[in-house]
Amino acid sequence: MDLNGEFGYRQHRLLFAELYCCEMQKYWLFLSANFYQSASKKAVALFCSAVLLLPAFALAHESIVYLETEDSWSAAAEAASLNLGSEVVNSLITQNDTTWLNIHTHVTAGMLYLPTINLNSYEIYGLNSPGILSRGGIQLSADQEPFWQPEFFIPIEASWGSEFLLRIEHPRGATIPITLESPESEIRFNTTRLISDGIYYGAIGLMSIFALLFWVFNRDPHSGRLSILLVTWLATVIASWGYGDMPESSPLPTILAALSTAFILVAGLVSSWFCWHFLKESAKDSWTLKGLQFCMFANVAVLAVGAILGFNNSLASLTFIGTGFFAVSTAVVAAWRGDAAAKYLVAAAIFTTIPFVFLFTIQATQQLVIFVGILALVMVMLALLQRMSERMRQLDLRAEVAGERERFLASLSHEIRTPLNGIIGFSELCNQEPLQGNAKNYFEHIARSSKMLLNIVNEVLDYSKLEANEVNINSIPSRLKEILDDVQTIITPMAMERQVDFQVGVEDSVAAFVLIDPHRCAQVLINLSSNAVKFSEGGQVRINVSVVESELQFKVMDNGIGIDSKVLDGLFNPFRQAGPSIAREFGGSGLGLAISRQLAELLGGSLSATSKLGEGSTFYFRIPYVETSAPEKAEPINVDTQSLEGLSVLLAEDNSVNRLLACSILQKSGIHVDEAVDGEVAVSKAL
Ligand code: ADP
Repeated sequence: MDLNGEFGYRQHRLLFAELYCCEMQKYWLFLSANFYQSASKKAVALFCSAVLLLPAFALAHESIVYLETEDSWSAAAEAASLNLGSEVVNSLITQNDTTWLNIHTHVTAGMLYLPTINLNSYEIYGLNSPGILSRGGIQLSADQEPFWQPEFFIPIEASWGSEFLLRIEHPRGATIPITLESPESEIRFNTTRLISDGIYYGAIGLMSIFALLFWVFNRDPHSGRLSILLVTWLATVIASWGYGDMPESSPLPTILAALSTAFILVAGLVSSWFCWHFLKESAKDSWTLKGLQFCMFANVAVLAVGAILGFNNSLASLTFIGTGFFAVSTAVVAAWRGDAAAKYLVAAAIFTTIPFVFLFTIQATQQLVIFVGILALVMVMLALLQRMSERMRQLDLRAEVAGERERFLASLSHEIRTPLNGIIGFSELCNQEPLQGNAKNYFEHIARSSKMLLNIVNEVLDYSKLEANEVNINSIPSRLKEILDDVQTIITPMAMERQVDFQVGVEDSVAAFVLIDPHRCAQVLINLSSNAVKFSEGGQVRINVSVVESELQFKVMDNGIGIDSKVLDGLFNPFRQAGPSIAREFGGSGLGLAISRQLAELLGGSLSATSKLGEGSTFYFRIPYVETSAPEKAEPINVDTQSLEGLSVLLAEDNSVNRLLACSILQKSGIHVDEAVDGEVAVSKAL
């Protein structure tokens, strides 16, 4: 637009009138003035144009807002704080979305400060210097309009007495406070803003790192969620405000501003997700908690719809406000019920809400948001720390209870095992005596039942040790055959009793010596084989050893009753049996498979099973296969039991029943036994 044209700078009222006409009117005016050669026709055309322009002239005259700066820019600043919705330009705004300001400066330089809430674009024309001085602004379409536009400054380099025209485009009835700032105060303001932005963004960034570290080191899920929340919040704030003064040439502010609505929705979603998890225990069953859950879905839905159809600011604001309302009221409910961490969240909510109350009333809103925002962040961190300390206390308590339980179980099973040893030992000794009638049979039953009981007690003890991580694995070079022989020795009597054909086979590819924990490996195999024998009366049980996928595999197969595939997996959990009748018919604790799987995993391997009801089961026990050479063995001591006769043995045992049992067994072999009730007596007797 050529401001040096027909009218000259000094006639700017007419110029405004022209500017307020639409483009067509303007061209018509120019054409009418220049088209006709004769002066009279030109005059008529000009007259007609002038008549046509009269209403615009009147409008323009009314719409001009004069800003006469006084001696300083700060005095002018007050005069320039305009409410464009006020009566000054009200009539104009009903017809136009544009306002003109005439700025007459009395100082040499300055800065025009436009908080661009609702501002679409601006143009500055110098009235005593030619042409457009500056032009810009955010010209987004309505559906792209950001939730919260960044503020910006328009620099005006002016000499004394210079006049400017500022043309701003804005929605009708908008309130746009405009301030003139001296360059110094602008620099001061900008520096403060940079520093406060830095502190605020830095605080959010640091806290999200802290929250992340809490999560990594303490496995605290609230910290993980908070860290995500803080990152989304940071993105949202940067999208809404930018950082300091982003260069206007960069497309980033516009892109971020366009995305700010989406960021707000994501922040709303993550906030409701965080608050829901954080408060669900203490605000259980409250309608506010349900509302919060609904907000999660609402945020997702608005986000999804926005991504497809374009984001709608009002809907996003509504969802965000709804999320905030339910988050705060849930925190209030939780705090009311005595949740200390929720009290900090309520405080954080109050701090976050303060600037929104003053959003459009005071100019330093952003600084206020930053200040109270940091306080709110501190409150959220305090809430998190409170939750963590509660969790730690609970964990300590649980660990204490678990420790107590382990100690109790260990001592209980020890207390049971000692007398059981006596029962088993004496009933076996009795069996060796000449007995009358059914007595032999009865003693056999006593011994068998006691062994079963001992087995259960041993399993409980093993399980409690495994749970307390007290089982150590000791892998040593071992002869595989020896381990299998031990298993066979223990299982064969049981198999014979149940008329089960029990065989062990090792494939040729398996080395004779392997690196293995022989005791734990045998324990798993005994467990699996005794189960197989127990559930395959009159059938067959095979142990097959091979190398599969560089692992040593023990396959324990039977053709017994089999297991329903629906319950098979669950049987590896403690105290589980295939059905209610199993305990009645076969006894057992339901711990064997749980212990075996835990041992297999401790050995670095696995335990799995396949089975078919009525056809039998196969258990696969696999451990890492490490071939090794034969260990150096100490010379075996040849014990000749015959030569024990007449020997003297000093026996130290504090349990009187076990002492008597051991004495009886030793004396049966013709050994002379000297008894000691404890270690001290034994030492004094030995000296
Ligand atoms: P327990 O044998 O003491 O009951 P386990 O944990 O060793 O405990 O076994 C759990 C359950 O798994 C058994 O009660 C039984 O129902 C089922 N089970 C285990 N091994 C077999 C098998 N070889 N054949 C059929 N059922 C089995």
